[in-house]
Amino acid sequence: MSTADSRAAIDFIRVIINDDLRSNRFGGRVHTRFPPEPNGYLHIGHAKSLCLNFGIAADYGGKCNLRFDDTDPTKEEAEYVESMIRDIRWLGFDWGDRLFYASDYFEQLYQWAITLIKKGRAYVCDLSSDQVREYRGTLTEPGKNSPYRDRSVEESLDLFARMRAGEFPDGSRTLRAKIDMASPNLNMRDPVMYRILRAEHYRQGSAWCVYPMYDWTHGQSDSIEGITHSICTLEFENHRPLYDWFLDELGIYHPQQIEFARLNLTYTVMSKRRLLPLVQAGIVRGWDDPRLPTLQGLRRRGCTPEAIREFCRRIGVAKTDSVVDIGLLEHCLREDLNKRSPRVMAVLHPLRVVIDNYPEGKVEELDAVNNPEDPAAGSRKVPFSRVLYIEQEDFMEEPPRKFFRLSPGREVRLRWAYFLKCVSVVKDPGTGALTELHCTYDPATRGGDSPDGRKVKATLHWVSAAHALDAEVRLYDHLFTKENPSDVEEGQDWMANVNPRSLEVLAGCKVEPSLAGAAPESRYQFERLGYFCVDPDSASGKLVFNRTATLRDTWAKVQKAEQQEG
Ligand code: ATP
Ligand code: MG
Repeated sequence: MSTADSRAAIDFIRVIINDDLRSNRFGGRVHTRFPPEPNGYLHIGHAKSLCLNFGIAADYGGKCNLRFDDTDPTKEEAEYVESMIRDIRWLGFDWGDRLFYASDYFEQLYQWAITLIKKGRAYVCDLSSDQVREYRGTLTEPGKNSPYRDRSVEESLDLFARMRAGEFPDGSRTLRAKIDMASPNLNMRDPVMYRILRAEHYRQGSAWCVYPMYDWTHGQSDSIEGITHSICTLEFENHRPLYDWFLDELGIYHPQQIEFARLNLTYTVMSKRRLLPLVQAGIVRGWDDPRLPTLQGLRRRGCTPEAIREFCRRIGVAKTDSVVDIGLLEHCLREDLNKRSPRVMAVLHPLRVVIDNYPEGKVEELDAVNNPEDPAAGSRKVPFSRVLYIEQEDFMEEPPRKFFRLSPGREVRLRWAYFLKCVSVVKDPGTGALTELHCTYDPATRGGDSPDGRKVKATLHWVSAAHALDAEVRLYDHLFTKENPSDVEEGQDWMANVNPRSLEVLAGCKVEPSLAGAAPESRYQFERLGYFCVDPDSASGKLVFNRTATLRDTWAKVQKAEQQEG
């Protein structure tokens, strides 16, 4: 492989890292971090960042820290820290003993702020937040200097100490970097470094009443931890000059910030700002609702960590924003579940079948293969008896031309069992609705083949009525009706695109008895129906399943069509 080829095979961030390794820029070290703010739950976008940061550390024999970026006491909670830790472990990443909190650096950051004041690079400003905004100017107009910009170093030092000591009301003063009010980059127009805020911090309690801003915290935290490559999403690109300015002015160890495109997915929203109203308005049942792209939602839905990591590998890393088809995530999930899920039989819309020539009271235990993709998974016994349930949609009294499943006079195969022929139907005399089928079976076809070579065109799944367990099954569809939830008519907001049919709850489903006691999060393929997993709402005697995915792979079809065209 030529150098150009091997470069094409890796993403642009790894290209930068390779260059840095060649030039020995960081002494051969590769050290990344994942820096979530504990103000909500992690979602699949965070998974992209996790895979990137921990993946790079693994590829280069480097390290990746977990750091909570906790500088806003009004939004952050210990509960979020715990849930994030749980989710990251579940995804399969390990930060060793390198769990850090930006709030642990508050004292160091405060001392560094004093350093900048002493250098004449920061000052206490008495403008209100509205005035600060007013003075900042716009993209087309330069800002104006604050009247406090040239106050003496001594006065700023004194005021900053008194800010910390709690002498001034919230919002009455700030500490600002003294950079350039005419800079074309608004982030460089004397950005605020500290604000006065009396709020309990979930880790620091009331130790502080001045809190550092994100930009003042992030780069210095990276520096303290010896991060080499500080990878963040594109919206921070025009914060990079400020990131660099702070580190250069302090003259401390200087990591490289690199920006990449955030993940967007069709038919869903990702940012915590949008997930929260869905939870609060009761449109979903909580942060772990299986329709949400949160890691807890995906987990409850039946998604595997392996599928999420494979999805992140396939989408790659780029420098321009794009939207990924949610079908690709489902495709990765099906591929993984196909390999690992035991097959079982379940009937979602039961139709009673009586086999007239099968002896009353007789029960046979038939062998069923657990996973044709995995011989090591072995087989199990499924009970067969005179009364069964099949799927309502597998029967039609007057079948159209291409319907090959059961109908009067027609013979089909029952999976792992016998050939079955429909002889008559029973209807409710009042409503005319179909209530029961009468059938016969051919005892010579046990196991599913006829010794006389007779063929059938369909194989149906079934359960034995006397042995089946009742279950509730929850079917999920996209949370939004439009690929892009923000695509709305004038005057509407994105909530207007919520799919009113994203959840369908089926009661009275029938599943095979081997599922008794199945633990929450156990995953199965229900033959012919899709992948399902046990919901934590299940209790003994009350099974609840979530449909993870159907068997139809729309994404694979699209790919195939594109390949044929191209
Ligand atoms: P949100 O808007 O969902 O709150 P955020 O960027 O505020 O996201 P943080 O907790 O600050 O969330 O993010 C932690 C890390 O995850 C950051 O490095 C951020 O860039 C990254 N990240 C967040 N959302 C995405 C996404 N959609 N795609 C890729 N990376 C993301
Ligand atoms: Mg954030």
